[in-house]
Amino acid sequence: MKNRITAAAPWLMAGLIAVLCALLSWTPLAARFDNAVHDWFERIHPAGVRSPAAVIAAIDDRTLMETGGDRALRRTLTRLLDSLAAAPPAVLAIDVTLADPGLPEEDAALAAAMARIPNLALAAEMLPDGTGWQPPIPAFAAHAAAISHVHAMAGPFDDVNRRIPLERVSARKRLWALSLDSFRLYASAQEIVSSPADVSVGSHVFHSRWDEGRPFRIRFRLPGDMETVSVRDLLSGAADPAKLKGRVVFVGVTSLSAIRDRLFTPVALDRPMAGVEIHAQAFETLAAGTAPGGTLLIASPLWTILLTLLFSTLMAAAFVFLQGRLSIAAGVAIALAAQFTPYLFFRQGWILPAFAPASASALSFIACGAWRFVIVRRQLATAESAKSRYQQAFHFVAHEMRTPLTAIQGSSELITRYNLPEDKRKQIGQMINAESKRLARMITTFLDVERLNAGQMEMATAAMDAGDLIDTCIARASGLADSKAIRIDWPGADDLTIQADRELLEYAVYNLLTNAIKYSPRESTVRISARRDGAGVRISVADQGIGMSKDEVKRLFQKFYRTERAEKSGIQGTGIGLSIVKEIVTLHGGSITVESAPEQGSTFTVTLPA
Ligand code: ADP
Repeated sequence: MKNRITAAAPWLMAGLIAVLCALLSWTPLAARFDNAVHDWFERIHPAGVRSPAAVIAAIDDRTLMETGGDRALRRTLTRLLDSLAAAPPAVLAIDVTLADPGLPEEDAALAAAMARIPNLALAAEMLPDGTGWQPPIPAFAAHAAAISHVHAMAGPFDDVNRRIPLERVSARKRLWALSLDSFRLYASAQEIVSSPADVSVGSHVFHSRWDEGRPFRIRFRLPGDMETVSVRDLLSGAADPAKLKGRVVFVGVTSLSAIRDRLFTPVALDRPMAGVEIHAQAFETLAAGTAPGGTLLIASPLWTILLTLLFSTLMAAAFVFLQGRLSIAAGVAIALAAQFTPYLFFRQGWILPAFAPASASALSFIACGAWRFVIVRRQLATAESAKSRYQQAFHFVAHEMRTPLTAIQGSSELITRYNLPEDKRKQIGQMINAESKRLARMITTFLDVERLNAGQMEMATAAMDAGDLIDTCIARASGLADSKAIRIDWPGADDLTIQADRELLEYAVYNLLTNAIKYSPRESTVRISARRDGAGVRISVADQGIGMSKDEVKRLFQKFYRTERAEKSGIQGTGIGLSIVKEIVTLHGGSITVESAPEQGSTFTVTLPA
């Protein structure tokens, strides 16, 4: 049981860690980690040039400086629109708030310029308190093919703008994003259609859930890579306005002083990006549609669980099936793969969770590594202690065998060298016989342990009387008991027929009896009893000897184990007798229990089934 748990430990730990990390991945901390990782991916693997490429007509610092600044913005726009009217862009999106009436003649001139631009999209901002829109004044709105919102979407859990809301509603009026309206105009689609799960423009469907605020993730190009032309250059003739014919042009203020309209994005964490550029980038992402790597699709939560499980299971497998350095190397490789996989997927346009697989693989690495360490240490310790116990026993056996061998050797020499009287020869012959039998018994015992353990020992069961068996054992042990003046108390038992292997069971009972005598003081009593126990039989051997502690009882049936008290007592022993007894009882389908306390005597009870 214990071994089975130990063997299952790496799988269990890996599974638990996977579930834990998958759950943790929905916490703000993990979301921020994922954000940081994905932002980094965007910087090292930004989107390439896309078709159609949007153009940013930037009202930059120099434009403002040379055209009269903020206050002359409408005049500047009028001049820009006039310069574009002859060869108009496919779409002209103006990210400038035109909500308040200006000087009447200036507004009239701008409205007239707007009238000559075919696909004009104008911006409306939501009131700061969210209670309504600030649309362009009617004179401008009349010429707009679309009036759109210009908001971005920060987060989750930080201030970085990776997404725009495709739709925003205020005071019951819904506006689409400037980039989305521009795309509709560019694609000459009649309208934008929405469902709870997505938004479509003509045949283009964008996955964006209404209940999540209609987010749409921008696939960014690096800031400097967006095609940008300064409005000042277009007006001064340094750039040719006709070059913008048929293009999608986003006009907006990029001046660094216009901090209000600059936001943090993944590709420019240090320097905020101008709002107009965010719209242009969003437009390009929409236009790239489902082209590989064009848009970023966010993998479903199922992926989080699957990937996390996959990597921690692989980690467990590495430590279960591989050994030593190889398992560590495989573990490191798996941990690296867990870090690297989100990047590979990112390159294919998928946003995979990064925190859960990475943390799960790292934690599983530590857990399985620790498990491995413990297992190896435990195996080493068991091997060491078995080895040392075996060595001790071996020394003892060598020592024990020498005694009868010396006796045999000496006696046989006596017989051959000297002409001894007949009775003396007979006596020596008997001694040689007894000593060689003792030697043979000792060897048999040792071999029995091995054979029993290897399952090679055969049982020859037959019906027999338990009382009769106990009588035999007592007779054999009486010499030992007499030498210590120990009384064996045996009330006898009637009709206790059992099915057993006589030789083996005799060995077991005899062993318990001799142990009781060996580990008892002189002139004490050993009680042996046998009685029916249900359909089976229960045999008890109780002594008044040295006893043992609870911890020692637990280890008692281990091969070669001897208690400290027994070692110190000077009583010779090998510590294998009880391990054989236990084997024998188990082979008979029975069980053995010990009740004992130090210096309080011990009671060994064997229960055999019917
Ligand atoms: P051995 O007696 O040769 O050492 P056993 O396997 O028969 O080997 O017993 C193992 C150990 O269990 C003994 O060394 C002794 O420490 C302890 N033991 C066995 N029987 C008794 C008993 N009746 N009283 C106290 N200790 C015992």
